[in-house]
Amino acid sequence: MKLIFELSTPGHGMQYLPQSDVPKTELPEKFRRKQALRLPEMSETDVSRHYARLAKQAFGVCSGFYPLGSCTMKYNPRVNERVASLPGFAAVHPLQPKETVEGCLEAIDTVQSLLCAVTGMDAMSMQPAAGAHGEYLGLLLIKKYLEKTGQTHRKRILIPDSAHGTNPASAVMADFDVVNIPSAPNGCVDMEAFKKALDGNVAGLMLTNPNTVGLFDPNILEITRLIHESGGLCYYDGANLNAIMGHVRPGDMGFDVVHLNLHKTFSTPHGGGGPGSGPVGCKDILKEFLPKSALGEPGDHPDSVGQIRSFYGNFGIYIRALTYILTLGAQGLRDASSTAVLNANYMMHKLKDVFPVAYDQICMHEFILTLEDEKKRSGVTALDVAKALLDEGMHPPTMYFPLVVHEALMLEPTETESRETLDAAVESFKRIRQKIDTAPEALHECPVTTPIGRPDEVGAARNPVLRYQYE
Ligand SMILES: *Cc1c(COP(=O)(O)O)cnc(C)c1O
Repeated sequence: MKLIFELSTPGHGMQYLPQSDVPKTELPEKFRRKQALRLPEMSETDVSRHYARLAKQAFGVCSGFYPLGSCTMKYNPRVNERVASLPGFAAVHPLQPKETVEGCLEAIDTVQSLLCAVTGMDAMSMQPAAGAHGEYLGLLLIKKYLEKTGQTHRKRILIPDSAHGTNPASAVMADFDVVNIPSAPNGCVDMEAFKKALDGNVAGLMLTNPNTVGLFDPNILEITRLIHESGGLCYYDGANLNAIMGHVRPGDMGFDVVHLNLHKTFSTPHGGGGPGSGPVGCKDILKEFLPKSALGEPGDHPDSVGQIRSFYGNFGIYIRALTYILTLGAQGLRDASSTAVLNANYMMHKLKDVFPVAYDQICMHEFILTLEDEKKRSGVTALDVAKALLDEGMHPPTMYFPLVVHEALMLEPTETESRETLDAAVESFKRIRQKIDTAPEALHECPVTTPIGRPDEVGAARNPVLRYQYE
């Protein structure tokens, strides 16, 4: 595919400026360019075609199957967009007087209390702009609580090794010390190692359940009880809520604070960087530390950690989440989670004779294949299979995550895929399996159907070339 600069033909530019009807004035010499702007020159038709071609190359949930584990790439109902774009929601200004946005404030209030009900929390702040931002706020709440109760010596946050990378990163940013808790062979928290790590310096625990290998920890009540007994608090990473909505609540599992990823579970389009929304819910003991409201209400608590996002946060996403929750209803949310879990188990069951499953037991919303043995046998890696899936017309699963599984491919089919789509994806995996058995070297050449095959990923990240390099 050519860049727009490469498609440029001198003289094909467009001139839409009207004739000037005011006297011409010369800019002072020092403000003038020494040479003309180097812009591509193209007709409007060709510009439109160029961008339409690019748009076709972008892959989204509306283009095909997108089982990107831990990201919950479900279909986002169009009615959400319709409601979020109503002028009463979309055309308000954050500095408008409060009396003129009562409806919007009520919408925020409503979605907050619905999310409290879903998570079993007592209060919620909508401010955080993403999951990781929510984690950071949640940890600030714990920190403030420890300060207020004279326990600043508690610096250690226990985090299982299967955690999302943002968990330890947020803990370090909030100035805690991270203690890594290994997983047991069954993929859940190693209880012996966990108990050994408990002491009077534990500030708390950060955990996602089901965890990032897709398993629900059967010891969860004991884990949260032991943390509380040792004087710490329990943080729930709620990015995986899609597996449990309406079935079990973090509040009932013993957690004190939780963040949600509205852009995952509550159906806002995501991928490619946002916008997101990571509301934080907490139990009463942490309520007074929640961020101040955007309005600086007199009721704001003096012990608040302060405001962490401008104005009201990413309001449009709250409306999408609210629409989603109200259209599905309580039973609908519960059914969505049941179907997400069913789809993952269906696909895992069909795939386990094709590639080994990392934890061969009933999973929740996602599961992991491992190519570790395959790599030793034929040299074919998880990356090769992911690239081959591109040629099959589907988005690859998450690769090489979590780190506890080697050569991992992590699939989260979500509830919005039909059985036919899941079956077709299984057939794709089977075709790749056959290729590996007949000509494994060919796998290193995939993908062959995309504009570029195997970019130098490290080079692209370390030395990004973001400007057109003129001769
Ligand atoms: C996606 C995810 C996060 C981070 O959320 P962002 O919105 O990307 O910051 C944290 N934890 C888990 C388990 C996740 O899947």
